Order: sequence, then structure tokens, then C-alpha cells
Amino acid sequence: MLRQYHELKARYPGTLLMFRLGDFYEFFYEDAQEAARVLEITLTSREVGKGSRIPMCGIPHHALDAYLVRLVERGYRVAICDQLEDPRQAKGLVKRDVVRVVTPGTVIDGAALARGSNTYLAAVLPGDPHWGLAVCDLSTGEFQVGEIGGADPAATTAEELARLDPKEVLTPDDARDLLGRLLGPRVAITGLDRWRFDVSLARAGLLSHFGVVSLEGFGCEHLPAAVAAAGALLQYLKDTQMSPLAHLRRMSTYAPEDGLVLDAATRRNLEVVRNLADGRTAGSLLGVLDESVTGMGARTLRQWLLQPLRRREEIVRRLDAVDHFVMHPRLRESLRTSLKGMADLQRLVGRAGHGSAAPREMVALAAALRKLPSVIDLLSGVTVPMLQEIVLVVKTHDEIAGVIERAIVDAPPAVLQDGGVIRDGFNEELDSIRRTARTGRTWIADFEAAERTRTGIKSLKVGFNKVFGYYIEVSNANLPAVPSDYVRKQTLTSGERFITPDMKEREAAILGAEERSAVLERDLYDGVRQIVAQAAEPLLLTARGVAELDALAALAEVAAASHYVRPEIVEEPVLEIQGGRHPVVERLVADRFVPNDAHLSTTDRAIVLVTGPNMAGKSTYLRQTALIVLMAQIGSFVPADRAAIGLADRIFTRVGAVDDIATGRSTFLVEMQEVANILHHASARSVIILDEVGRGTSTYDGMSIAWAVVEYLHDHIGARTLFATHYHELTELGALLPRVHNVNVLVQEEGDTVVFLRRVADGGADRSYGIHVARLAGLPGPVIDQAQRILQRLESSAGPAPSDDTFLPPLPSRALGAQQLPLPLNQLSPVEESLLTMSLESMTPLDAMAALHALIEQVRQRVAAGESGGRTGKVVRMKRHLPKNR
Ligand code: ADP
Ligand code: MG
Repeated sequence: MLRQYHELKARYPGTLLMFRLGDFYEFFYEDAQEAARVLEITLTSREVGKGSRIPMCGIPHHALDAYLVRLVERGYRVAICDQLEDPRQAKGLVKRDVVRVVTPGTVIDGAALARGSNTYLAAVLPGDPHWGLAVCDLSTGEFQVGEIGGADPAATTAEELARLDPKEVLTPDDARDLLGRLLGPRVAITGLDRWRFDVSLARAGLLSHFGVVSLEGFGCEHLPAAVAAAGALLQYLKDTQMSPLAHLRRMSTYAPEDGLVLDAATRRNLEVVRNLADGRTAGSLLGVLDESVTGMGARTLRQWLLQPLRRREEIVRRLDAVDHFVMHPRLRESLRTSLKGMADLQRLVGRAGHGSAAPREMVALAAALRKLPSVIDLLSGVTVPMLQEIVLVVKTHDEIAGVIERAIVDAPPAVLQDGGVIRDGFNEELDSIRRTARTGRTWIADFEAAERTRTGIKSLKVGFNKVFGYYIEVSNANLPAVPSDYVRKQTLTSGERFITPDMKEREAAILGAEERSAVLERDLYDGVRQIVAQAAEPLLLTARGVAELDALAALAEVAAASHYVRPEIVEEPVLEIQGGRHPVVERLVADRFVPNDAHLSTTDRAIVLVTGPNMAGKSTYLRQTALIVLMAQIGSFVPADRAAIGLADRIFTRVGAVDDIATGRSTFLVEMQEVANILHHASARSVIILDEVGRGTSTYDGMSIAWAVVEYLHDHIGARTLFATHYHELTELGALLPRVHNVNVLVQEEGDTVVFLRRVADGGADRSYGIHVARLAGLPGPVIDQAQRILQRLESSAGPAPSDDTFLPPLPSRALGAQQLPLPLNQLSPVEESLLTMSLESMTPLDAMAALHALIEQVRQRVAAGESGGRTGKVVRMKRHLPKNR
């Protein structure tokens, strides 16, 4: 057996081997140590002759799925080795082989799959000038390929992979390190021999799998890198799944840059599918929009959000469909009722095609198919193009549902092995075998009664166990009454067990029938599964149609309930939003949300500078504007009174300074990298959200960078940009640059405190109100008072400005004369500093005397030491604080 084990282990390098032994899957050697640690199960050992022992641990076979999930989630590859014959029948060693290798990207077990998101396996082939990319969700049969070119295909590929969030990425061995650097530590990367990415081999594999003579129909015949990646991916699936993959029937070619591009930072910052706080869907845009009633619909919405559209016709096509459902609430309601509770068609067909669908899943599939006629009925006569197209591909699949219903009982056992899955009357042979078994069992039952009468032993019992089969048990007291035709089989303390030739004959018939019926049931069940697998392609098309219907109806549901409007999609690069709201925040603050307008246009209001104190609502305003564009471009209604959205090619955001502890980069460096990315990739068609850029460094550094960034955007890019800053000094730019416009989020001063109005108005803020906010936050009174004093001091000693007393940072292109940087605090001597920080109102006269005395002492000591505390000291300290490049 160990030889068998080692042989298998050698054939599946790099995997943990789960070796079936009776009712357990066992791990041996290092695998056992690893598995015991990860799964928190007890490590034991097994005697292997001559007193030597090997480490071992095991899990019960029925708990396989749960343990498998835990291993695979931690990035392990697990080879599952099963017994291929019944151990009772086996002569010598039981035949065993690996039946499936489960890897992070090839999990299809229901328990391990998130309902509303895809589990992708990707293959990436780096190349010049194009990178090849193939992506597959094994559980649903989705299979997409593409090539990525452009100026920086590596970066674009990394972006695309960040969007898809694959669980595993395949790449040639020699490109592993490169991919590792691009994708970071969280993605499992599997290296394959380079020849697996050979184009002609890959092409041949794809042609034979899909049964076609050219890849033209899939749109990738002319994309060698994409074909190579797809071929490697398909072969990897075949090698690991040992399944014909009947549900992988189509491949579609796409160009990642065809849609509205959102980079990873933007998806994160805008909280598109996860919130920033804890990464869950609640509190994200998806959390608001996902009113879908099926897992398929949820996945579709998620895909739409992660890859919005860019072409006007496509957006309008979806908007028309959503509009229809908004205008016809009863239709929407009926449709959603029909879909509610419908099982996940995509995944059920996927599992049938994969060969792993359990009997209950087949029954669920039939039930789901039976709901389709009412769905189709509801939509007949609809004239909206997208809905019409969907109705054309959604079929009822009566035959498939019929076959399943005829073949499989209504409530089958969880696993096929238990038998009783196939319905009586479906197959004559099975019926007759079952009759034989039934008659046998009745005979045995009658036999017990008959023998009691014949022998007069009232306590005589007929029983069954695995070792002896059927037996007659008689207690010691009754042994004298045992007839002579009984054959003694076993002696117990309380009695004896016997058999009779008649009974044994019946037993053979029963057991034979049971065995034959198990084999036959399995065959018949496989037959049904194959019928489903053969219809996988039309079934999956139907499933996709249903998924889209669910997603569209969900968008309409939200639009109606939350009073969204249909956006007007225009080609001109403008944003005209009236009464815009933040879809997530408005739910949190309920009716207290204050709607705001946004007007941007590349031609005359490209850049809107948003000023206002902390907490005023700047970030919210920026994000809501970006979210409205994003929502419009997936074909959703938007939270506004009116909106005209000029198509955007990309949305960029740089929001706040988020700690990126995982990658070990400094936050300011990350902030600048993201800004660099924006300045390199934005076009006049982009929408850019910059929130507090420059906050990650010192005030003057930050302000200077922010200033220069705005100038660059204005002069060289012209993208619609919202720039929020609490550096109210930047409002000066509004006067200097024609396409920069100032708005500010209003606050009302009431004595020492401010009231946030959350209203955006024209013009810049003239102060930051930071101290007011600090007071609201509950900083102690003395700290606030002291801050006020320092602020006054700073404001009165700010260096001489040329035109007015607003601070302007030194700038290379539009320098307004070299200025002395005002650094008033650095000009103070230690004694002056102490004086300033002294809080007289909280001192007793005696305290004041003591403090004064201490100060005099300080000055005396320094005079004695020959240091004046005047000019020289000041210069030295100033130098230290000056920016390096001065
Ligand atoms: P800032 O970026 O100016 O510091 P935020 O945008 O973070 O301010 O807003 C602070 C808080 O104000 C938000 O958490 C939200 O609760 C509230 N808020 C923002 N905008 C609005 C609005 N338009 N209506 C009502 N409340 C708002
Ligand atoms: Mg903010």
C-alpha cells in the first residue's frame, strides 16, 4: 500500500495527497504534519514494519468538502485519491487512483463558493508587444480570453487581474517571479512548463475540446497570446479535474480596455463592491444596488460594476431595459417573484457538466427549469431590445426537466452511493432487480414468523450483520428446541447463531440484487447527468439570460425605491448633475442628506476645486459625483434629480491617505504613486477625483504638490476633475487658471462653533475652521485655546505676500516671485516659546512668580554659556526646516 502511495505521490508533485483508506482520507509523512497543523487535527503515526513508524493523520470521508475548503483557501493543492473498487471484492491490494486535484482556482464545491461572486482561474502569458490572458470560472463555465497591449501591458494586466480577483494564476515557470511582483503575495501563482503555452499545441487543444475547425467563431483566431493562455488553462483544468468539462462550451474574446476602466485604487476608494472599513459588501455601492433574488443575478451585477461600459449604445440598451422595469412595477414584481428561490442554474449546469452534480442538485435543476415558462410568458410581447434578445435565448428546456423528473425521485438521498435515487418505473431492469430484493426481504421477514411457529421458540430472531449475513439467533435456554436442519455458525455468551441453506439462498439473491441495483443506478444516473451535460451550452445561455433579467430588475427595484432618475448619456465630456446624492451615505443619514449639483465640462469648467473645513462634506460630494458616473455607465439609474453624463473612458480617484501596511510602502509614497498613475494615464475623457492630495506630507510640501498637480491637469490633460482640499490657499488658482472653478461646502459660524450646512456653493472657502472641528471633536479646552493663540500668531506673521496676504507656495512655472517661507515658530527662542505656551488664566499668582523665576534662570544660564538665543541659533534651526530643494 505504501508503494502505491509513493507512486501516486510522485505523479502529483507539489500537492498534498489525500489517500482513501476505508472510511478515512489519510495524509502521510510531511503531508500529515502539514495537514495536522493547518486543519488542527491530531497527528498520529502508523507502524510500517520493523518497528518503524510514519506520521499520519486523517479525516472522515464524509467531511471531505469542509476540510478541502480549508486547505485550498490557504493556497494548498490537494490530490484526492479514491478507492476504485469495493474493498470487499478486491483481490489483494485495492485499486486506487487520484480522481481530482483541487487547487485554489478550481474549487467547485458549493460550500466553498461565495454565492454572489465568481471564483476565477486565470492564465497569463507575458509577451511583447502583447500579454495573453485567459480567465475561467469552473463553477459556471464562463471562459474569457484576451490580449493586452498598449504602453505598459504588464501594468494593464495587473489592473485587469485586480479587477477579476482570481484565486489562482497560471503562468510559465520562468515568469513566476514577474507575476509575483505584479500581483503581490495574496494570489496563488502556479508555474507550468513553458511548452504548455505553445500556441499550436494550445490551439489544437482548444479546437478539439470545442469541436471546431477554427477559433474564428470565438473571436481569437488572430490573437496568438490569448490562444496560448487559453490552451494552457484548458489543459490544466483537464489534468486536474479529470473531467470532460462538458460545461465549458464557449469562449469569448474581450478587450479589457473596451469598458470604462477603473483601477484598483479607484474601486477601493469608491467602495464599489466592498467597504473600506471591513471589506464586506454592506456599505458599498454593490450593497446598495444588489437587490437581486438569485446568486446568478448577484454575480452579474457585480461583474457589471467591476467592468462598466463605455459605448453609448450598450449603456442605453441596458438603461432602456431598466427603464421598462421601472415603468412597469407589476411586471417587475411578478418577474422577481418567479425568479425568487430559483436555484443557481449556472452552477448546477456547471456541476452537471463537470460530472460532480449530486442527486439533489439535479432535482433542484429540474425545479429551476420549471420556473422558466412563467418567466418567458411575462416577457412575451415586450418591445425593449435587450429584453427581446434575452427572451430569444431563454428556453424552457422541458425535455431536460422531464428526463430528470422521470429518472430521479423527488427527495433523493444526499449521495448517490446510498441508492434509492432512481425512480421506480424509469428502468425495467432496475425495477425487476428491486423486486427480487424486495421479495427476498419479505421472505426473510415471513421466515422469522414461520420458524417461531415451527420450533415453538418465541424469542427466535432473524438478524443481519456484515460478516455473516442473515442468521437465526436462539437464546441458551431454548437451544434444546433447535431443529436439526439448523447449521451452527457462531456462539455468543447468551445464545447461539444458526443459518439454514434456504435462508442463505435468499440472502445471496438479496445481496446480489442490491449490488446490481447500485451499479445500475449509478449508470442510469450518469446517463441523466450526460443528457444535461450535452445540453450545457443552451442551458448556460438560458442561465445567463435569467441572470441578466435578475440584475436589470434589481437595478429597477433600487431605482424605484430610492428615487433615482434615468441619466442622459451624452458624448460631450460634461457632467451636469442636479440634486446629486451619495447612494450609500444618503441611506445612513436618511432624510438629512443634502443634495448638491455638479457642473463640469472639459471646455470651460474642467477642474472644480472644492474647499471647506474638515467634516463639511467634501469627500462625500466628490465620491457621489464619481459614483453617479459609474452607475450611469453600468446602465443604472442614478441618485439625482437630473443628470447628463458625458461618457468617461476612465475614472480615477485618489482619496485620503490609506495605510498600505500589507505591501510595506509608505503612505505618502503610495499617494504619490497613485497621483503619478493618474497624471500618466488620464485623458480629456476621464473623470478624476482628487481628495486631499498632498496631505501625506508637510503643509508646504503638500500644498506645493497639490498646486502643481492642478496646473498640470489644467494645462495638459483637461479631464473633468474634482479636487477637494482643506488648503483654502489653493482657491487662488481659480483666479489664475481659466478652467479652474472654485466651490466650497458651506458652514455657518455661530459664535465659537460651526454648523455644517453640507451645501456646495460657488466660490472658495477663506479659512479652514480646523480648530472649530477640533472643538467639536472634544479636544480639551486649554488645547483649543492654545491652538487659537498659535493660529493668530501664525496668521499675523505670515511672510509678506506680493498682492494680498494669502500664502502662495513657490512654483516653478508660475512663480510669483521668490518668497521667504514664513516659519514663525522657528524664529522663537525657547524662552519666548515657554512664554507663549503659558496658560496665565489657570495659574495662581504664586505659580506665575515661580514660572517667571524659572525663565529668568534659563536666560541667565544661557548668557553664562555664551549663547545669546538670538540670531545664530535662529538661522541654524531655520535651515533644518527648509525644504531640501531650496
Ligand atoms: P470632508 O471630506 O469635508 O471632511 P466628509 O465628506 O467626510 O467631509 O463628510 C463628513 C460627514 O458629513 C459624512 O460622514 C456624512 O455623514 C456627512 N455628510 C457629508 N455630506 C453630506 C450631505 N450632503 N448631507 C448630509 N450629510 C452629509
Ligand atoms: Mg474628506
